[in-house]
Amino acid sequence: MPTIPTLKSYNPATGAVLGEVPITDPARILQIVEKSQNAQSGWERLGHDARNKLLLEAYRDIQSQTEKLASLITREMGKPFCEGLIEAKSLGSYLEEELKEIELAVVPETYHDERSSSTVYRDPLGVCAAITPWNFPLSMPSWMVIPALATGNVVILKPSEETPLCGQAFVDILNKYLPKDVLTIVHGADEQGKQLVKSDVDLIAFTGSRETGKDILKSASRTFKRVMLEMGGKDPMIILEDADLEKAARFAAFNSFRNSGQVCVSTERIFVPEKIAEQFEVLLVEAVAELKLGDGMSETTTLGPMVNSTQRNHVINQIEDAVREGAKVLLGGGGHKDNFVKPTVLTNVTESMSIASDETFGPVACVTRVASVSEAVQKANATPFGLGAAVFSENEEKASRIARQLSAGMVGINQGVAPSVRGTPWIGARESGYGFHKSKDGHRQFTQTRVVTKRF
Ligand code: NAD
Repeated sequence: MPTIPTLKSYNPATGAVLGEVPITDPARILQIVEKSQNAQSGWERLGHDARNKLLLEAYRDIQSQTEKLASLITREMGKPFCEGLIEAKSLGSYLEEELKEIELAVVPETYHDERSSSTVYRDPLGVCAAITPWNFPLSMPSWMVIPALATGNVVILKPSEETPLCGQAFVDILNKYLPKDVLTIVHGADEQGKQLVKSDVDLIAFTGSRETGKDILKSASRTFKRVMLEMGGKDPMIILEDADLEKAARFAAFNSFRNSGQVCVSTERIFVPEKIAEQFEVLLVEAVAELKLGDGMSETTTLGPMVNSTQRNHVINQIEDAVREGAKVLLGGGGHKDNFVKPTVLTNVTESMSIASDETFGPVACVTRVASVSEAVQKANATPFGLGAAVFSENEEKASRIARQLSAGMVGINQGVAPSVRGTPWIGARESGYGFHKSKDGHRQFTQTRVVTKRF
């Protein structure tokens, strides 16, 4: 019997092997797509009520094992257990409302004039390929799988090669409730992802890096395949002179270091007026110095490792380049051991440094002192990315005006981009987003709009 090659999963905190999954032979992807196509019409015919019932049952099962799933998240990608628990608990926490929102978004709408009626239908597209990253290894798949399935599509999920066990656990639970071939998993890396994009699927829903997003868009253009691309960011935080500096420093320390900075909406650049910069930097360093680096399974840990050595080396190289080019280290400033990076605070960061322009995705807070608000806005917008941003000021009107000048898709005032009010989209601008998640319009991206007109 030929042996099936496997993909091993490693704990980034300890290097231990956690488990393995069979790698999907890229040549098999065409057959997998065919099976999914065959399952789609039956799933669509079930209708909203029956589909929602199955999804609710599956997510109740997920919610009954959040501790176990949180532990798997932490051991597989490194985030502290308490963060893993927040992620696991977020799965399906408002599912009933979300499913209602999805149903209402796609309900047929009829328009009349004196001679005719036209009905707008929003039908499932067919087979959706969901290609996901490792930094939120359960919630990213869930964000795509729920609206895709609820609107009557079937799904082929390709989770990140860094977190195959989380992807498998998620699919195994759902498949206890879903009919056969409605949700299928494909394991592997870019080879399997590329093959999926090339195949006869109807929609690619992707979350990941800008480079991969570009590659997918190029490949999908051959057949004008539908794509939804959610990519990285280089989020700015603008602090005004009248800001509550303690609040701003606490937020910067939280949002630059949560999940070791491996969050698409991490604060990656901080712009502070010269007049208050020193005071802010002292407060920031104080807050960051409290972080406890270690294995996420330890109760005292508040900062875990990088997901792998490639990511660690990327972050260390950016820090070292920045220091060579004149950035000043206020705290940390390099590697700890293995996949760990010391929580680092830099100031005097300038636009020419790679740490100011390329996504870092690591535990680093970068401060740039500015002479005016307009300089802060100009620098904040000097990036091809446009995911999130934050503005801190006690004058909310002024902060709202500045928020509207930023090129980001989402801006938080005296907070991060989340939580935002339910029903609003998760959306990136410029090279951070091409399509988006959540909201009525977001759910409709999983459908084909059709108009049927008849005369009275
Ligand atoms: P990545 O682009 O390297 O990989 C993402 C997925 O794409 C993986 O499953 C990977 O195997 C697959 N893939 C890689 N090359 C491919 C190709 N050529 N064709 C098809 N599939 C391919 O990203 P990552 O390192 O897993 O995730 C980190 C990135 O994700 C960061 O840039 C982060 O900002 C971004 N992200 C964005 C959001 C958002 O909401 N905008 C959310 C989470 C993460």
